Amino acid sequence: MYNLLKKVILCSVVLLLMVIPNISLAKSSVNVEKISHNLMTLEQGDTYLHIEINTNREVKNFSIQENPNNKYQLIFNIEDAQISNISRQEKLDGNIAKKVFLQEKKDTVQGKIYLQEEVNNNYKIYSLGKKGIAIDIFNSIVNTPVASDVALSNVKNKIITIDPGHGGSDAGAVGPNGYTEKEGAFAISQKVASILNQSGAKVVMTRDSDVDVYGPNASARNELQARVDVGNNANSDIFVSIHCNAFVNPAANGTQTFYYGSSYQGQRLAQSIQEKMIEANGLRDRGISTCNFYVVKHSYMPAVLIETAFITNYDEEALLSDDEWQTTMAKAIAEGINEYFSN
Ligand SMILES: [Zn+2]
Repeated sequence: MYNLLKKVILCSVVLLLMVIPNISLAKSSVNVEKISHNLMTLEQGDTYLHIEINTNREVKNFSIQENPNNKYQLIFNIEDAQISNISRQEKLDGNIAKKVFLQEKKDTVQGKIYLQEEVNNNYKIYSLGKKGIAIDIFNSIVNTPVASDVALSNVKNKIITIDPGHGGSDAGAVGPNGYTEKEGAFAISQKVASILNQSGAKVVMTRDSDVDVYGPNASARNELQARVDVGNNANSDIFVSIHCNAFVNPAANGTQTFYYGSSYQGQRLAQSIQEKMIEANGLRDRGISTCNFYVVKHSYMPAVLIETAFITNYDEEALLSDDEWQTTMAKAIAEGINEYFSN
């Protein structure tokens, strides 16, 4: 009896496929499909596959790897587990994968995920505690590759949420020549994402075009929580929000990074990024500061909000709208992130 009880029983399988916005501009419309019946829930999108396998107690030993005999398959193993009376195969919509198949092998439950394309680095398995385990598979497409000068080896396989401030119905601050914060924040964010993706990170963007994340003209709370949700749902390692500063006095200038007061890791992340930015852009160093900004406070992981420069300052507005300067800043931010993951 004890031996029987010892086994974790996979009492139900929930396949939950959700959409995280793609950073590709070309794919701004994302199809979402939701299917629900007794034990299964499916939500399927273009660029992100999230699979949850519910168990009746915490799973301790699990792993995932490429099938050495088939580059189109990922194999995951859950040890000391059994499948109970459930469907063992689930057909998927084919954007990322075609199907998931579960089988028992002695005391292990083995799953095979049949991918649409060859396995890349963008997958991860992790515990959901007593709820079970989850598998994320990303398909990151970037339109505007930006090369980094240095190898950013520490970000490999890290899940990094980049949050371009404002967007859609919310332009953010506007400069004396009419350049908007949402444009500057997005341009730099996209370049950061491009560099990190090339270094093997799994980048998730809160928005991949000029849109509101929650919806047009929503309350600030709904809009900001929607951004926090993207980072939290992706189980991100860090959350990086990118903005432009503004002040009534056009002389105000410089670069600053914020983190949530009690977060030591947030402070470390802010410090690494701030140092790299100042090294690269030579602007006034306003340092790092604690803050209560919503997205930084409510993200489960270390989070920072970067004020790249003052869009209300004539000279800095010109920099913010300059492609080359945006690239310089993006490289610095990516290098700061890499530095953070070095220990
Ligand atoms: Zn802002």
